Amino acid sequence: MTKEEEIPDWVGAKEFYDKYDPKEILGRGVSSVVRRCIHKLSSQDYAVKIIDIASEKMSPHEVQEIRESTAKEIEILKMVYGQDNIIQLKDCFESKAFFFLVFDLMKKGELFDYLTEKVTLSEKETRKIMRALLEVVQFLHSKNIVHRDLKPENILLDDNMNIKLTDFGFSCQLQPGERLKEICGTPGYLAPEIIQCSMDQDHPGYGLEVDLWSSGVIMYTLLAGSPPFWHRKQMLMLRMILSGSYDYSSPEWEDRSDTVKDLISRLLVVDPEKRYTATEALAHPFFQQYVVQEVRLLSPYRKFKVICMTVLASVRIYYQYRRAKPVTKEVVTRDPYALKPIRKLIDACAFKIYGHWVKKGQTQNRAALFENTPKAVLLSLAAEADDTLAFQ
Ligand code: ADP
Ligand code: MG
Repeated sequence: MTKEEEIPDWVGAKEFYDKYDPKEILGRGVSSVVRRCIHKLSSQDYAVKIIDIASEKMSPHEVQEIRESTAKEIEILKMVYGQDNIIQLKDCFESKAFFFLVFDLMKKGELFDYLTEKVTLSEKETRKIMRALLEVVQFLHSKNIVHRDLKPENILLDDNMNIKLTDFGFSCQLQPGERLKEICGTPGYLAPEIIQCSMDQDHPGYGLEVDLWSSGVIMYTLLAGSPPFWHRKQMLMLRMILSGSYDYSSPEWEDRSDTVKDLISRLLVVDPEKRYTATEALAHPFFQQYVVQEVRLLSPYRKFKVICMTVLASVRIYYQYRRAKPVTKEVVTRDPYALKPIRKLIDACAFKIYGHWVKKGQTQNRAALFENTPKAVLLSLAAEADDTLAFQ
């Protein structure tokens, strides 16, 4: 058992241990460990985030900083309490060495793990998740709160697969007209203006818009199974972000509607002033009930499928019609030719479906071997999340 795996000392944390029984580790961050815990009176499961504020590895200045930022995290969690898609802080305790934040337990874990398991999500599922996420962002921004660390690892899933946003460790409430200059967040999700701030001392700073950029990165990642800005060398990845260089060239995008790509392209806008707000994003046609346009904007494969079904239906009608009528010579000679293209179309569809199934399987099996598969990319991004930037 490593030092950080040890259950924190009883001294000074009696209040927490009197009420809860800490269990296995669910996740960990830079200076925190999250464990399942049991409320002794009700026997109900919860999750406790244990933040170490007195590690010997830290300087007194760092200790003070963590103490202040945790107090800020708690303050914000209290301000946002009650929004359906935000994790609820149930209890909190402070000892000399630790903070204990008790939350509802999300047994289904992170959206990140769900995506890793499914490789990519459908537009329908993405719509449900993104609508809830953008409503959370709209709610936070209405209170002038910026989250600054939106990513699938900080989005948890409840028993009904509804999202719960967590980790308000980098959140802060802005004063009217206030701009931020701190560089914090996770590299792949950083908005260009945050990176610009680190390069230019005279930069006017950034604001709420950074959450919409990260939302765009999340949306792209859910549909493609890999992030829009990615390079093994972090500097090159940051350059891609600065210039907003991403594309829809991977095969995962072939069957995606233009509507969904349009929304992403309005979130991944380098100029924060031109970027969609949460309210504008929620009013986008992607979130309208059923978009007739999407049928028109089908990919060649989907068009193929529609043609197949139409032709098959026509053939069925034709045969019924023929049964009712005497068979003429003309019909008999035309019929085999009429069926040939249909056979080809069916074969093409079967191949396409089979091809897709094979592709998914290969993606999963090859993830450990090849770096460029979506899952591998996601996993390396997870490793890189440990490099979460938090310096001033
Ligand atoms: P950090 O600030 O250290 O990143 P988080 O609050 O993001 O801490 O928690 C770290 C991880 O712990 C999460 O990514 C998740 O895997 C797990 N976790 C956090 N809260 C819960 C919860 N309420 N239920 C289940 N797992 C959780
Ligand atoms: Mg986190």
